[in-house]
Amino acid sequence: MQFQELHLREEILRAIQERGYDEPTPIQAKAIPAVLEGRDVIGSAQTGTGKTAAFALPSLHRLKRHSHTRCLVLTPTRELACQIEENFAYYGKYLDLKLGLIYGGVGYGAQRQAIQEGADVLICTPGRLLDHLSQKSLKLDRVEILILDEVDRMLDMGFIEDVRRIIRQCGKNRQTLFFSATMPDTIRSLADWAVSDPVEVSIDIRVSPAETVDHALYPVDAMVKFDLLVHILKKIQNESTIIFFQTKAGADRIAKWLQQHGNNDIAVMHSNLNQRERAKALQDFKDGNISTLIATDIASRGLDVRGVQHVINYDVPQHSEDYVHRIGRTGRAKTEGDAYTLFSPDQMDKVQAIETLIEQEIPRRVIEDFNYRIPPMTDIPGKPKASQQRRGLMGRGGKFGRPRR
Ligand code: AMP
Repeated sequence: MQFQELHLREEILRAIQERGYDEPTPIQAKAIPAVLEGRDVIGSAQTGTGKTAAFALPSLHRLKRHSHTRCLVLTPTRELACQIEENFAYYGKYLDLKLGLIYGGVGYGAQRQAIQEGADVLICTPGRLLDHLSQKSLKLDRVEILILDEVDRMLDMGFIEDVRRIIRQCGKNRQTLFFSATMPDTIRSLADWAVSDPVEVSIDIRVSPAETVDHALYPVDAMVKFDLLVHILKKIQNESTIIFFQTKAGADRIAKWLQQHGNNDIAVMHSNLNQRERAKALQDFKDGNISTLIATDIASRGLDVRGVQHVINYDVPQHSEDYVHRIGRTGRAKTEGDAYTLFSPDQMDKVQAIETLIEQEIPRRVIEDFNYRIPPMTDIPGKPKASQQRRGLMGRGGKFGRPRR
């Protein structure tokens, strides 16, 4: 299918062409016609599938030209809000529309101004939007398109009641586009309540890693885990890398240590930092000013940073689904990436939970030229198939035993 066949406005097609997209991704091919027809949509798609354009392109098409706030996007984090705004701005650059960003941690002035100017699309996190609503600086009764993005994440973050309150304030005749990576019962009942006669677009529920990510487990004793990380970073040199930590304190500790040892090519991103610091860390990473981002799971969902070559999980993620989200930061939109998970034998139950979720065994590998001191246990329960193990232990070429393709 070609974008031309979707009957989007010429101004939008021009922007898509400039962005370099050849053809719609599967979720775009399915969702865009439904949205253009004015239908409600419930969508679930794997990370990196082009979900943002799937809702942004047809919404922009329907809005046409500047009038008043008619499209509301709700998303869990400020980073996602900024990213969605960038997408709307790019795809809509030849249209006469105004955009506004509403999120916490920053002043109210610019946001009030965007509201007063009648930004056609408001992209918001729930808490700050509710502040504006309670201050009566904004009404939602004329919203025509309501987009709920990453609803399961909003549930995890405790926003679900806020989301309900916001939905209640939107006009009844609106079109609702509801996106969630997973559909547990709570989300399903919220969806059923929020949408009407929806088209369901389920591309690939987000439980399998993208095929373009080469991921493996690196067993290591807790005692030498940090040394192994340093060893890997030396090999990676300046290639773009995100290192995930379970805790903010862990992320800070390692960042500090690396900085003390002369590695200033890093930035830290977690929720104890203020919005300005978080935005700067992300921007520096996106711009390539720094090569390594040290982050907690705040960065694991949905963030679209081009060209991330490596993801390193310093800890096995607490929630199995976060494994898929974390490694989804690389290998996005058909590019290839590597994901390395360091784990000690006491984290085996978490590894097994991940393998059950993704319905595949993750290859165990060792790094040939690292001095483990205590030999790593590669044959612990849930062990990989003999072929995978053999390949890992013997190395597969490339930096970490990965074949060069
Ligand atoms: P998303 O799933 O919305 O976060 O998008 C993931 C990445 O895919 C982003 O870098 C988009 O710019 C890119 N993308 C979206 N649609 C297309 C397309 N039709 N062709 C190629 N890349 C795309």
